[in-house]
Amino acid sequence: MAEVRLHHVFKRYGNVTAVNDFHLDIKDREFLVLVGPSGCGKSTTLRMVAGLEDISEGDLYIGNRRVNDVAPKDRDIAMVFQSYALYPHMNVYENMAFGLKLRKFSKTEIDSRIKETARILDIAHLLDRKPKALSGGQRQRVALGRAIVREPQVFLMDEPLSNLDAKLRVQMRTEIAKLHQRLETTVIYVTHDQTEAMTMGDRIVVMEDGLIQQVATTNDIYNHPVNQFVASFIGSPNMNFITGRTREEAGKVWFAARGIDIQFPDDQAQLLRKNGYVGKEITFGIRPEDIYRDNQFITANPFQSVFQAEVDVVENMGSELYVYFNNIGNSQMVARVDAREGLRPKMTVTLGMDLSKCHVFDAESEIALF
Ligand code: ADP
Ligand code: MG
Repeated sequence: MAEVRLHHVFKRYGNVTAVNDFHLDIKDREFLVLVGPSGCGKSTTLRMVAGLEDISEGDLYIGNRRVNDVAPKDRDIAMVFQSYALYPHMNVYENMAFGLKLRKFSKTEIDSRIKETARILDIAHLLDRKPKALSGGQRQRVALGRAIVREPQVFLMDEPLSNLDAKLRVQMRTEIAKLHQRLETTVIYVTHDQTEAMTMGDRIVVMEDGLIQQVATTNDIYNHPVNQFVASFIGSPNMNFITGRTREEAGKVWFAARGIDIQFPDDQAQLLRKNGYVGKEITFGIRPEDIYRDNQFITANPFQSVFQAEVDVVENMGSELYVYFNNIGNSQMVARVDAREGLRPKMTVTLGMDLSKCHVFDAESEIALF
């Protein structure tokens, strides 16, 4: 159990800055997820915590200790990799025992830790097997087990589920979350998968180009993204973005773009006025589920947000439809509607947006106003 604090941490490779001023206190027992597209610096950050990469600048603390210059084996961390990195010539028991032997644990202590961990992970029947005689999911459990027996203060996991098929990945996701509750340790978990990030993390760190974009809970990241990058990275299908102009008319603030002319609710209008966004180009954002097709919403809708759209493509997800339109705004737009609506290409439909959920971004900086 320990806090992990990264204070203004940089990693430079020549003139490439892979991690740029990473500054964050990770709480004791927190499940923290680093998420972002490939190459954004997630693994490099984790590897610096592990001690597998030198820190170019800044301070790293685990517990109360500054560990920049402490060897990986003395940091009291354990790491689980995407590749599992099991020793092929050792059986499961020996793989799990290896790190403990190195640290001079007694045979009885090693044995009791392995038995207990194997029971938790449901791999007790596999202890005699070599890795090549295990399925991908079983190997993944052994890799976790090898980390758990060490009873480290901090677990570091780098895309540990990426090599598993979709079904197993979902199953392991909940297992790792349960394991975290049981072990009561700090976990730093790296993934490029936004669903993993949202379902597993107490807090999520969204990174792009070596820079932290936002640190927040799933709900906050989803409902209050700080910029257009975070808004588009989290959520599936993506948030819709429409570029257009705002105007003041009869005491209200309106937004117009190709195919729509909508009126902001008063509290949002006030924010737009106060920040000088009236009479300007902005990027308007709305998530696919905040666009409604049903008449009840459209008639009871307190907002001036109704528009007509022509259906281009329909993806049937079973319970709902992802409906794409081409005649609104500057790029394709998508709405999630009930499958019972039975929409088909070429239909013209009336839709309404829940403007209490909409977002406005600065057209140039892409920073969210709300
Ligand atoms: P992620 O895990 O988010 O996909 P990485 O942390 O692996 O990203 O990489 C971040 C950036 O640092 C990338 O641009 C990558 O090319 C660069 N990088 C990583 N390792 C090295 C290295 N050993 N030498 C030079 N550049 C590196
Ligand atoms: Mg990586």
